[in-house]
Amino acid sequence: MSVKILVVEDEPAIQELLRFACATNGFAVRVAESARGAQHAIREALPDLVLLDWMLPDRSGVELLRELRGSDRTRHLPVIMLTAKGAESDRVSGLDAGADDYVVKPFSPRELVARIRAVFRRRAPDKSGEPIRYGALLIDPARHEVRFEDRPVKMGMAEYKLLKFLASHAERVFSRSQLLDGVWGDHVFIDERTVDVHVLRLRKALATVGAQHLIQTVRGLGYRLAAGPSS
Ligand code: CA
Repeated sequence: MSVKILVVEDEPAIQELLRFACATNGFAVRVAESARGAQHAIREALPDLVLLDWMLPDRSGVELLRELRGSDRTRHLPVIMLTAKGAESDRVSGLDAGADDYVVKPFSPRELVARIRAVFRRRAPDKSGEPIRYGALLIDPARHEVRFEDRPVKMGMAEYKLLKFLASHAERVFSRSQLLDGVWGDHVFIDERTVDVHVLRLRKALATVGAQHLIQTVRGLGYRLAAGPSS
């Protein structure tokens, strides 16, 4: 499943540049030309990151950003603002409104992609495409490979995604519904008990290398990945 980026920009030339930069890096792109179009796209499917232009035909990008930050569903959605050259006050108010970063026009596709990856590293390491390490556990998304103490661990795709998600937010506890949103995506209607089934399978896979203790049940709350004693 590729990383989904929503581009909110009304200028065709910049749309094209953004589309090209994202597509050549394996990101799936959807383009909205206005704030209203962006809201519609986000309602349909939550993207992994938004590239948001400051000047949109119907509203300002920063107004839309404030609205996204005010809603539970989009509060933590990574957003990079695109600003005009030299508009220092724009950058400050963009960051104040909750932007994760900003890119100044004109920008190079390489710079943009580097910024996107940096935001993912900070906010969603499972999306950055870089190896995730936790103690002796190594997850290599480029090869779809899991190793523990350098021994390969075989598992199904759902278990792999679950492990990757937990490992990129190690030691944090997630409820079943948070795991469904984070691993399977929102708007996916799966029974919460399905999570338990995948956790069971994941533990079985990890048990083949003696690492089943990494997936901990936190009573009444959910699950986490941690090396320490479970609570
Ligand atoms: Ca614009």
